[in-house]
Amino acid sequence: MRAPILVPTVLRNIAKKPATNLFPKREPVPVPEDFRGKLEYNVDKCVGCRMCVTVCPAGVFVYLPDIRKVALWTARCVFCKQCVDVCPTGALQMSDEFLLASYDNWEPFIPLGEEKIEDIRKKLEEQKKAKEKAKKA
Ligand code: SF4
Ligand code: SF4
Repeated sequence: MRAPILVPTVLRNIAKKPATNLFPKREPVPVPEDFRGKLEYNVDKCVGCRMCVTVCPAGVFVYLPDIRKVALWTARCVFCKQCVDVCPTGALQMSDEFLLASYDNWEPFIPLGEEKIEDIRKKLEEQKKAKEKAKKA
């Protein structure tokens, strides 16, 4: 008969505070330094080197050759941080965000948006023209 052996343990634990955080009733506990949360991408810093595409084991990055940038499927990320380590310009960073569940299948995608793409195209075109002008001079 094992029940009497368990009784003192049960009674002791009834009086104790819960060992876990009561999320979502309370705020989540603070994350430690160097926590690997949701990936953040700064498109303006990206130089289109494709190092992230090469090292990512999860196929998160889609290279967009016409504008020399990447789009990201962050839902595929396994938080290994290899892309952050290899990115030469600091365009990729791991954030503290870890509440990533969503009902929207498209939400975890970081697209650039038509306006941004048009902006980048214009800048590339201007750079190309400036180079050609410099060559002629
Ligand atoms: S490694 Fe960095 S700079 Fe290179 S394509 Fe990826 S995000 Fe852009
Ligand atoms: S952290 Fe790892 S899995 Fe996530 S995007 Fe970067 S390389 Fe890919």
